[in-house]
Amino acid sequence: MVRWDKVIKGISFPRPKNNKVPDFAFSAVNFSGDLYNPVIDQIWIDQKSEKPKWPDNKPYAVCITHDVDVITLRSKRENIHRIKHVFKTWSQQKTKQNLIIAFESLENIMKSMFSNRGPNHRIEDWLTVEQEVGARATFFFAPEFVLKSHFTDCCYRYDDKLRFEGKKITVADLMRELKSRGWEIGLHPSWFSYNSVDEMKYQKAQVEEVLGCEIVSVRQHFLHFDNKITPSVQAAAGFKYDSTLGFNDNIGFKRGTSFAYPFVNLVNNDTLPVWEIPLIIQDGAMFHPKKGMQLDQKTALEYIQLLAEKVKSVGGILTLLWHPNASADEISWQTFQETLAMLKKDNPWFATVREVGDWWRKNVNINLVSFIENLEK
Ligand SMILES: [Zn+2]
Repeated sequence: MVRWDKVIKGISFPRPKNNKVPDFAFSAVNFSGDLYNPVIDQIWIDQKSEKPKWPDNKPYAVCITHDVDVITLRSKRENIHRIKHVFKTWSQQKTKQNLIIAFESLENIMKSMFSNRGPNHRIEDWLTVEQEVGARATFFFAPEFVLKSHFTDCCYRYDDKLRFEGKKITVADLMRELKSRGWEIGLHPSWFSYNSVDEMKYQKAQVEEVLGCEIVSVRQHFLHFDNKITPSVQAAAGFKYDSTLGFNDNIGFKRGTSFAYPFVNLVNNDTLPVWEIPLIIQDGAMFHPKKGMQLDQKTALEYIQLLAEKVKSVGGILTLLWHPNASADEISWQTFQETLAMLKKDNPWFATVREVGDWWRKNVNINLVSFIENLEK
């Protein structure tokens, strides 16, 4: 029998070993056949006969998020940074991979000589389609600088330029503009932030410096997360909300829930001040050409509808992740738009990670971790 308290706390999940995440598609719920069922939410409703209440009595919440891994493929500076980065982290991966990235970067620079309108110059398109359904999303930005480099780190700087609504602006300008329009800015910390308070604080401060205010939400780059260490690191850096706990190569309810829940420090069993807004569906898991589910648009929409129905049935949170550079991939971009149109029919509460988290803690007040722990004692 599955011990659901172990699932929601993360005790039944493997930890990264030798700096590798053991299985990007794994969940302890795979074995019970419940990957597409928010089982713990259902247990709550069976026991308590009540669902979470959302603003204006909306049936569930939809949290749209974007991890900004790349600003634009046509930025000479970003590509030069990437080439330098490949040499700096050369020993961390195979020579062939290093050469591929270096040559792709060179190719991007060549192309940029002919046109600076790269395929990723479409941040405004995301805002437009989100605005159409009354949504505002959370954008997770990478830091400019890290203390310890990894080959997967992002390579843009905040004074790099991009085109936005016909104007040339800097990444810093973009971050401030998104914030002023009501979109949330969070941190997308680097690979080696997962176990380092110094790294996490240093990276958080860089985004806060640009915005001139505190940020509260975080999603680990590559979803690189250690159940035993990362929650405490995020708490020590002052974060309130994490949205890392989903899959790179799969979709579904990794920890058996679509509800927000507090992290537990597995070393001493203390509840931490960071709450998880679980990641349910991401573009990369569905559309990566070489790994994960490798879905076509129609099948992807069927999966999304299935999961949305499940979240709706328990009144939970459907967190979506689409990478902004995915707008260059027509199938992914079309699926995003169709997903929003489909969800809109349910009239859910579209909100940022922070809005969902703040609402949950103030008005919903369900703590699934202590609930399920007491139940299974
Ligand atoms: Zn990332």
